[in-house]
Amino acid sequence: MLWNILALVLFKIPDLPHRSSLHRPTRLMSKLTMILALCLVISSQAQARKISRVVIDPGHGGKDKGANRGSTYEKNLALNVAKRVEVLLKAKGMPVTMTRRSDKFISLTSRAAIANRYSNAIFISIHFNAHTSTRQTGVETYYYGEQGKKLAAHVHLRLLSRLKPRNGDTRQRKNLAVLNKTRCPAILVECGYISNYTERKKCLSSGYQYNCAKAIVDGIWAYKTYR
Ligand SMILES: [Zn+2]
Repeated sequence: MLWNILALVLFKIPDLPHRSSLHRPTRLMSKLTMILALCLVISSQAQARKISRVVIDPGHGGKDKGANRGSTYEKNLALNVAKRVEVLLKAKGMPVTMTRRSDKFISLTSRAAIANRYSNAIFISIHFNAHTSTRQTGVETYYYGEQGKKLAAHVHLRLLSRLKPRNGDTRQRKNLAVLNKTRCPAILVECGYISNYTERKKCLSSGYQYNCAKAIVDGIWAYKTYR
């Protein structure tokens, strides 16, 4: 395939109009530049990862409320962001499975089992954070394993650039069931602290929720495209 394209560039594509045969070296250089560009395109395509499905996991649900402050519940915020991620991914033609689509309790092992039904899937668990200190703010991304680490790095970078939060960084968490029981690359995103008054107000806004979702999708796409 590659050799066919190279041969086409070298022998079949007509030269650009030129004034004299003195321009022959220039024409050769332009052909070589085209070959180099083609090689770069082909090699970047070869490096793209195959992702056949994204399993989106809105944290908590039902009797498991997650963190809460006043009338703000982590389980509701997580579902809002997850549904936005679903819409954005489907718009790109990516198959999506949600571990829950309503306020329903799902065990951690069931969530991992849903992800394990698929080959070439990735798993994104969406949460919001809380701390006893009301001053704590920021976005954190957890992962388990090497592929999870790469996925976390891409998603976290986009979260930082879109949300401009305190950088809570990425961390390996070996004790989280949704990460260590999933066989595919898996991450857990903590989209902000609802225990901080200012950050809670942001987390409740549709603009912030959209930006969380967009950053997650952009991160998934970067992971899919680049090594
Ligand atoms: Zn949580």
